Amino acid sequence: MDLNIVEKAQTVGISRRNFLKKSAIITGAAMMTQSEILAAVGEKKVLKLHNVHLNKTFYAPFFEKNYYKLSGLFEVNKAFIDYRAKEMTRIDVKLVNLLYEIKQHLGYDKQFNIVSGYRSAHTNAQLRKTHEGVAKNSYHIKGQAVDIYVPNVSLRKLRDVALGLKRGGVGYYPTSHFLHVDVGPVRTWRRG
Ligand SMILES: [Zn+2]
Repeated sequence: MDLNIVEKAQTVGISRRNFLKKSAIITGAAMMTQSEILAAVGEKKVLKLHNVHLNKTFYAPFFEKNYYKLSGLFEVNKAFIDYRAKEMTRIDVKLVNLLYEIKQHLGYDKQFNIVSGYRSAHTNAQLRKTHEGVAKNSYHIKGQAVDIYVPNVSLRKLRDVALGLKRGGVGYYPTSHFLHVDVGPVRTWRRG
């Protein structure tokens, strides 16, 4: 994990504290409800990720009290494992946050089922031979893409939420029943 992310989180933390001080002066801290204070001081972000190939669920609290939690991000990396190559990578925090934002639109209890997370270059090359539409320089290789579905949520709804956020690529695969999301340039496609 590069320190940059931690430093950035700390900077955000400091400026949020200053903001809180100011807003406390303006509104008076007594006027803030407890949940408002909690939300402002220490938003806790958790993802529940189920790797369908391992049939294993990972609970990943990755952000708390203005800091990224490396242990939580590590759980994300584990859930995204390339099960063919048995290799892990560091998943881009932008993608982790994107999943969290999607979850906020779907419901707090929702989990993401991961069909394909990280892919080693070798795995991606193998998949290109057997599967149509696998990109050569896939964002999956960079830890910046994931193919998902959400139990009890229609794929169409999941797609619409992802499209609405405009954070990167959204590929709709209704026949294979998954949605591809990545944090590359904003674009969209449908296959199947
Ligand atoms: Zn994909």
